[in-house]
Amino acid sequence: MKVKLEVPVSPEWERAFARAAEDRKAGIAPERVACRTYRIASTRPNHTPHTVVIKSVVRLEVTCDCEGATNGRVCRHMAQAWDAAVARIARGDDAQTAPEPTPALSGAEIERRMAAAFR
Ligand SMILES: [Zn+2]
Repeated sequence: MKVKLEVPVSPEWERAFARAAEDRKAGIAPERVACRTYRIASTRPNHTPHTVVIKSVVRLEVTCDCEGATNGRVCRHMAQAWDAAVARIARGDDAQTAPEPTPALSGAEIERRMAAAFR
């Protein structure tokens, strides 16, 4: 584990991490959709993807909108998103410290802005 946790890893979290590892092997990968927010495909057929929000990496504070998590359980989605968030931090591009890059401007947009600035 690459992060020093402030809380013990409960057996429930250990099971969730094990299930998340299985999902990763099966090709399910969390997609980062916003700062600390991940979308993860459901393992059940015809289910909408789940949205997971990382509130604290070191305290394992994670929310998911799936049925299990709504009922207070630690789910595989939370573990998958947590893994993804830790991987981001390890790469040094955690959203908390690095702002989202601004998209490159098109040539036409740059010309428009220049024209507006020197009017
Ligand atoms: Zn979930």
